[in-house]
Amino acid sequence: MKKDDNGFKQFVTSLVKKHGTPLFLISELKLKERVEYFKKLLPGVVPYYAVKANPSLEILKTFASLGLYFDVASEKEIETILKLGVSPDKLILSNSVKSPPLIKFAKEKNVLLFTFDSEYEIQKIAKYAPGSRVIARIKVPNVGSVVELSLKFGLEPEDVIPLLVKAKKLGLKPEGISFHVGSQCTRVENYLESFELTSMILKDAQAKNISLNIVDIGGGFPIKHFNHEEGIFEEMAPVLNKELHRIFNKSIQIIGEPGRALVGPCCTLVMRVIGKSIRKNKHWYYLDDGVYGCLSGIIYDHCKYQFNVFKKGSVQISTLAGPTCDSFDIISVSEDLPELEIGDIIYVKNIGAYSIATATNFNSIPVAKTIVI
Ligand SMILES: *Cc1c(COP(=O)(O)O)cnc(C)c1O
Repeated sequence: MKKDDNGFKQFVTSLVKKHGTPLFLISELKLKERVEYFKKLLPGVVPYYAVKANPSLEILKTFASLGLYFDVASEKEIETILKLGVSPDKLILSNSVKSPPLIKFAKEKNVLLFTFDSEYEIQKIAKYAPGSRVIARIKVPNVGSVVELSLKFGLEPEDVIPLLVKAKKLGLKPEGISFHVGSQCTRVENYLESFELTSMILKDAQAKNISLNIVDIGGGFPIKHFNHEEGIFEEMAPVLNKELHRIFNKSIQIIGEPGRALVGPCCTLVMRVIGKSIRKNKHWYYLDDGVYGCLSGIIYDHCKYQFNVFKKGSVQISTLAGPTCDSFDIISVSEDLPELEIGDIIYVKNIGAYSIATATNFNSIPVAKTIVI
């Protein structure tokens, strides 16, 4: 074990002694570093943090203090961000289908930048938030992305111009184009094809006397979940920079909506073994968190995690299950683990996004306690 691993073990063990488990650790230093890192990798892109990835107040406070912009999707998200003192013009309401009360609420709070992907949506926006700025969300390839985000959303490219014209007629201000290449997107071509498509739409809009100022390249930027993985985002970023620079005029403002890339690497879930059995010659370990809790990303985010233990020794293929009374609550059936005992610690790094955000209280089991470290 390396020296810093030893330090980490002692640190985690003392937290567990003090607070029990499960624990959801948020590293404030890492949050700050990730924002800097994103800006360093994509210097031409203004990041709007996608709050849905992790709406923990501790995270939002840190991001607000760094002056970040926010991508919000509900009344509660808007309210929480504004309460932190963030100016409403730093928010984009990027849920492309919004209820009338949500649009009214946004308008009351002076959040006046909306995305849309249908004619019905512009009619709603014109009615409940007249005069607002609007961005058309287009359908783009989500090939190979872990989470598909174009099935439910996005205009066909040929429908964009007529709707921008319509929006203008209804008194709205057409501002730009947005897309989402799918979350945990590892295929740089998804972005590049979307840039090309967007650029053609900008030209067509210009021809119709609609001058668009914003290109919103969405989220999707991938992170590492396993120690052995390479830095995919690091490889993509120079290509994205070059192409953004080549394709878009300097006067266009490029914004992004990173969720996972900003919070994923900043959190660690610490659990303990609460039960053990041997079934058909295989070890089963029952943990105090599972797919109904902070490991819900296994279901909703299609995510695979690296499970780590401090114990050493020869490994065998084991099953991990959660604490609820549902057989669905099986975390993994093929983890290489040394033999564990009740009370042993097991932890997952890089679990900041789509984890605690989708955790439930099923079986009235509380969600893991958040600790800022
Ligand atoms: C979920 C979502 C994001 C964030 O996506 P990541 O893959 O986490 O970066 C950004 N924009 C919109 C519209 C989203 O729905």
